[in-house]
Amino acid sequence: MPPTPITITDYIELAAPLAEAETLLHDESLWSQLPIKAERNGTFWHYQGDLYAINPVPMPPCPDPHQRQMAWQISNLGASHTPIQITITLYDAVLVCHAAVAVTFTLHPTFPVPGIRLWHRWNLTQHVRRYCSALVNRVRERRLPQTVAPVSFGLGEADAATLADALRPYYPQTIAAFEQMHALDHLERIWKLERGWQHILNGEYDPTIYAIEPNRPTPAILDFDLIYAGGGLGLLHAVVMARCYGWRVMLFDRGEVGCVHREWNISRDELAALVQLGIVTWAELAPVIMREYRDGVVRFAASPHSPIPEYELWLPTVLNVALDAGALLRLMRRKLLEAGGTILDNHTFRRVTVCTTRRQQIASIAVELAPQHSSHSEVWHARLLLDGMGSTSPLALLRHAGTPFAGVCPTVGTVARGFEPGRTRTSVDPTLGDILVSVADTQGNRQMIWEGFPGRDDELTVYLFYYAALTEGGRTRRKPADLFPLAPLPLDAPDYSLLELFEAYFALLPSYKQPAADFGHIKPVYGYIPGRHSLSRHDAPLLAGVLPVGDAAAQQSPLTFCGFGSHVRNVGRTTSLLDYALRHDLTSPRHLQRVTAFQVNVSLNWVFSRFMQPWSRPHHVNELQNAFLATLDSLGSDLATRFFQDRMRWHDYNQVVWYTMERYPNVFLIAFPVLGIPGVWQWFCDYVRFSLAAATAHTAHRAGASIEAALLRVSDQYAAELGLRVRAAYAEWRTMGWLDE
Ligand SMILES: Cc1cc2nc3c(=O)[nH]c(=O)nc-3n(C[C@H](O)[C@H](O)[C@H](O)COP(=O)(O)OP(=O)(O)OC[C@H]3O[C@@H](n4cnc5c(N)ncnc54)[C@H](O)[C@@H]3O)c2cc1C
Repeated sequence: MPPTPITITDYIELAAPLAEAETLLHDESLWSQLPIKAERNGTFWHYQGDLYAINPVPMPPCPDPHQRQMAWQISNLGASHTPIQITITLYDAVLVCHAAVAVTFTLHPTFPVPGIRLWHRWNLTQHVRRYCSALVNRVRERRLPQTVAPVSFGLGEADAATLADALRPYYPQTIAAFEQMHALDHLERIWKLERGWQHILNGEYDPTIYAIEPNRPTPAILDFDLIYAGGGLGLLHAVVMARCYGWRVMLFDRGEVGCVHREWNISRDELAALVQLGIVTWAELAPVIMREYRDGVVRFAASPHSPIPEYELWLPTVLNVALDAGALLRLMRRKLLEAGGTILDNHTFRRVTVCTTRRQQIASIAVELAPQHSSHSEVWHARLLLDGMGSTSPLALLRHAGTPFAGVCPTVGTVARGFEPGRTRTSVDPTLGDILVSVADTQGNRQMIWEGFPGRDDELTVYLFYYAALTEGGRTRRKPADLFPLAPLPLDAPDYSLLELFEAYFALLPSYKQPAADFGHIKPVYGYIPGRHSLSRHDAPLLAGVLPVGDAAAQQSPLTFCGFGSHVRNVGRTTSLLDYALRHDLTSPRHLQRVTAFQVNVSLNWVFSRFMQPWSRPHHVNELQNAFLATLDSLGSDLATRFFQDRMRWHDYNQVVWYTMERYPNVFLIAFPVLGIPGVWQWFCDYVRFSLAAATAHTAHRAGASIEAALLRVSDQYAAELGLRVRAAYAEWRTMGWLDE
């Protein structure tokens, strides 16, 4: 039998930019660090008693400036074996590069039996993979930035300029861009935000902010019915409760109510929920809408190593309305005041005490606030506290005893103007939005994802983010693996650092959109967008007297992370249920757990978001997502739109999973390494729960409106608690569009 050549390939990320990786690969000292157990012997290599020569093979120059190719031949000087050829193609990914490694062996005719040949091939593949992993580690060790002394500031000590100077050596591009934007004050906010998140990741929380006091005297007349902490999404909720249901509402914020540092995208159909509730008109919303574009795209990069081609999914009605979030909240502030609500700016939440009756029912809550310019605290009484203090809400941390989120999307970006106009991918067409776009395989072991939404004039809001899981099967996950080899990092740099991501953002931006001559950043946008993998309405029991809303509840999809969109879609449901609960005195945690934006179909998105995080090789996320997009596209734009707007039905889900498996059977094999056994078990539980809910909703739908009305009439008459349950179930199905089929 003649000798047959076989080629074994692997694809890896090297933690060095292209030119540097090329130099390193030609450095023999790096080769001798690989676990080949060979020793340098003059100009030869000594291995298991044989002498080998390694000679570079001349390669023609690559026509693409973003690629390099190099090759070596390894010959055994004492035997007549055919030489082994190693070819490495490097692909530029700005901060790092990817290497496609191909090793060609010649299988000796002493392996004639097919089974043995297969085994031999498998064995060689393991060898190549081991050497490639060793190469990844050696390059990383050489390139890993040295950590240096911590940046020594306590919170609140540093003024913006001093903080900027201290951070400049570590994040030079970020500081320069913030200076250009006159946004140094944001540095301190980011600095605090990062450290706040580090406390959350460490599982720290303050148990003294909440107390239950049985039999504590309650004022005869409460100051308010509802007190809202936090003037973001809570403000929208408060306006509905005051204007539509007439409850006496007070809302406070540690800053100015209605001040927000982000932009929101949504679709017109979703926004219509606010108009249908009667709290705004389309005419009032017109100046709030910055732009409405005709189409949006989801696109993942075609990896050079993947057999699956790139696939684009066009979604004209997903996130295609860009809002001026500040203008919307200012409008809502005015609406709340018009409806008789009270607003307290610059009041920080300090503590809430829940007063219960002898029968363990909630009599009232007393909320203690610290006004900004006063040494005296204020205490206000109401029936309930609505916690809208966002993802770092101290009450949410307490409720979840230090493990509040399953996942997070660290997100940074800028509103910028002056990009190259045009219709190419790297130019900006103001009639199109990028919903989710990747332009490369992993960078720093993270799959970076871009969003770009045109705003006013030639402005473009650009976000860069990545998905990270914080828990797996209920257990805390390990910290993120790698840092970008950009600059030395301070020792106290937090995990999932936003400043580190900003540094990557400024370096990578031209690979996403080309700046033109008059380009400039206008303002930074950033945040940690949390997600929870909920198996139930409330995976931790609610604190008595406190109902979370917005990011404090974190019921938005852990895939799309559209907290604003989820809140708006559900605000009609959560406010009408709360009104019912208040009118029937159903304010214990057992009752209020029904008053939530939880959607059973959203819990399934957790698994989708897990597959957005790299698991083995740099191209895996892009490859799977391209197979997934091809599936969604083949199933039609209605289904794809439902998927991205959290209205996925049982049949939709089955089709998506089935056709993706058909197109990409590997998904079976990777589920266990990606999710682990607890993760697969959770997936199964989610699916069972989802199926049961779908079956119940289907029965209710078939039964018709008259049965719904009869159920509500009977339950209202005999058991208000049952009435709340029935209402909550129908409201959830309606939000998911399950009663429209
Ligand atoms: C960069 C970025 C882009 C996003 N883009 C979109 C998008 O396009 N579409 C979408 O649907 N969602 C988007 N989101 C998610 C969305 O912005 C959030 O879900 C939403 O802003 C959460 O609002 P919130 O009011 O719950 O929390 P926050 O916005 O965090 O507001 C919390 C409020 O509580 C106040 N507060 C906090 N602590 C205290 C305290 N101790 N005392 C008093 N007040 C306190 C804060 O000052 C703040 O005003 C984005 C998020 C980010 C970070």
